[in-house]
Amino acid sequence: MKTKFNFAEYERECVKCAKCVPTCTIHSINRDETTSPRGFIHLMANMQDGSLKLDKNLKKIFESCFLCVNCVSICPSQIQTDLMIENARAEIAAKFGLAWFKRIIFFVLKRRSLQNIAAKFGYLFKSCGFAAAPNGMRSRFALPMTRRGRLLPPIADQSFLNAYPERMDFGGDRTVAIFIGCLANYAYTGVGDSLLYILKALKINAFIPKDQLCCGAPPYFTGDMRTTKWLVKYNVEYFELFIDTIDAILVPEATCSNMIIADWLHVVSDEPEWVKRVRRVVDKTFIASQWLHNNTDLLSVTPSLDQKIASVTYHDPCHAKKTQGVFKEPRAFLEKSYEIKEMSDSSSCCGFGGVTIQSERFALAEAVGKNKAAMIAQTEAEIVSAECSACRMQIGEALNRSGGKQIFMHPLELIAQSLKKVGSNA
Ligand code: SF4
Ligand code: SF4
Repeated sequence: MKTKFNFAEYERECVKCAKCVPTCTIHSINRDETTSPRGFIHLMANMQDGSLKLDKNLKKIFESCFLCVNCVSICPSQIQTDLMIENARAEIAAKFGLAWFKRIIFFVLKRRSLQNIAAKFGYLFKSCGFAAAPNGMRSRFALPMTRRGRLLPPIADQSFLNAYPERMDFGGDRTVAIFIGCLANYAYTGVGDSLLYILKALKINAFIPKDQLCCGAPPYFTGDMRTTKWLVKYNVEYFELFIDTIDAILVPEATCSNMIIADWLHVVSDEPEWVKRVRRVVDKTFIASQWLHNNTDLLSVTPSLDQKIASVTYHDPCHAKKTQGVFKEPRAFLEKSYEIKEMSDSSSCCGFGGVTIQSERFALAEAVGKNKAAMIAQTEAEIVSAECSACRMQIGEALNRSGGKQIFMHPLELIAQSLKKVGSNA
């Protein structure tokens, strides 16, 4: 990662057409040019040429971007505003430091044993601090990062990585590794269970690399480049040990898969040797629904039911549809056994936004989430689905706050459910 990103160069490429402005998530709830892609670009260039000082006000402005990439997908000059913001946040973190709770979170992300202890502790004492609720657990009191009544992900009694052996032979001649992601490992463990069920039904062997760590998305979006680079290099060194023995690495998460496939290369861009090493891992890494769709019989194996199991509305995670072009694949599986009820704008950002927006700027997430929850409620679907646990956490909270009745299920959980329905012999 370059320490000094060339914001001015991007500004010169911006033709000021404003096509990005109406698509921008933060601009939709704060209609001010300073919180729009065009405004961000201008401010970042001014910051670089010294005409604008990086002060707390500018920091606040740059921290309001949701990194939803709506602007990138529409820009005729193909300006990567998200990449610029990520670099500006690195400068912010270098100048102002990180909040104490972020330093603790990122410290723990580098240590699996501490994560396991924290999860075990959280599981044992969750009934003291949280009440069970649909789509998660509701906090009984305010925490440093969250207020009372906030819906948080449920904590599982056993993590996905600890629940299964490292190698599972399902009698096939292909083997895929699973990169599970932190939220699906400790909270939404049904995602990994379902992926294993599907792989077993397809006779594809599973390899669960036990020493994998966080993909680095939380520190990356927060500007903590030192932790991000450490995590990227750690994971690459670890994956190199088995990369030639597997057919693919499946990631059932939009954010984590995009972080690995696209952002790992940005993180090591100033180290050519590491670019090569990252590329070797990236070439075998896929978001799960896409690989299962393009490389297996899952579509023909998934039952085509006259009587659909339930109705589903599908939310397109920003880091699946807009960055990886994946949106038809999960729908192709789901429409065979479920009635699909499309929401008015399935591509609009859910409002997750990253660690800063989920903690210090939660009012922004709440405002965007409110719109998404209303859209979901309008469909009257029973289930809302998306291949992303960050979206799950944010949409769950938005539904909780708005009184929405939909239950969130990952597409792999829905596919596994339909396979079970017809008695797949997995
Ligand atoms: S990434 Fe999203 S929120 Fe950020 S400037 Fe672009 S459209 Fe706006
Ligand atoms: S769409 Fe691209 S070129 Fe047009 S104003 Fe936005 S950033 Fe500039």
